[in-house]
Amino acid sequence: MLWALLLQPVSVDENKLIPGLIITALGAFAWIKFRGRMDQKLSKNFSLAEFASKDGAETPPDVLENLQKLANNLQVIRDEIGKPIKINSAYRSPAHNKAVGGVKNSMHVKGKAADIVVTGVTPAQLGQIIFRLIEQKKISQGGVGIYPNFVHYDIRGTKARW
Ligand SMILES: [Zn+2]
Repeated sequence: MLWALLLQPVSVDENKLIPGLIITALGAFAWIKFRGRMDQKLSKNFSLAEFASKDGAETPPDVLENLQKLANNLQVIRDEIGKPIKINSAYRSPAHNKAVGGVKNSMHVKGKAADIVVTGVTPAQLGQIIFRLIEQKKISQGGVGIYPNFVHYDIRGTKARW
């Protein structure tokens, strides 16, 4: 193992070697577990890392479930456009939501919303594509907000437009 090789120079002091090995092994385990989770794919073109709260907060299991549904819907949009979708903001921990001035019952806190951008496609055009896919029942009904630099889409289930 690599960490064992790295620790070889201190092997002269066995009192330090064993705790050192344990700490290194635990650290490696935690890192691999964290990386494994962040690399986790939610759909063909989206990974969990893209949806994570920007403050580094953990993604609770109920939020993860919503993010999976959100990613499935975004994948349909992505396949329709044929271009990468950049996610500016998806899940926001309650603390991060407060920090960015989000509304209290924000769909972002539930993991049901994403603010998205597609290079070469205006927010108005992106909004039209989303409206059409909702009408065709290819993606979930929900909230669509057209902003100057991005589009907010959420899967609340009921129609909301702004
Ligand atoms: Zn939003």
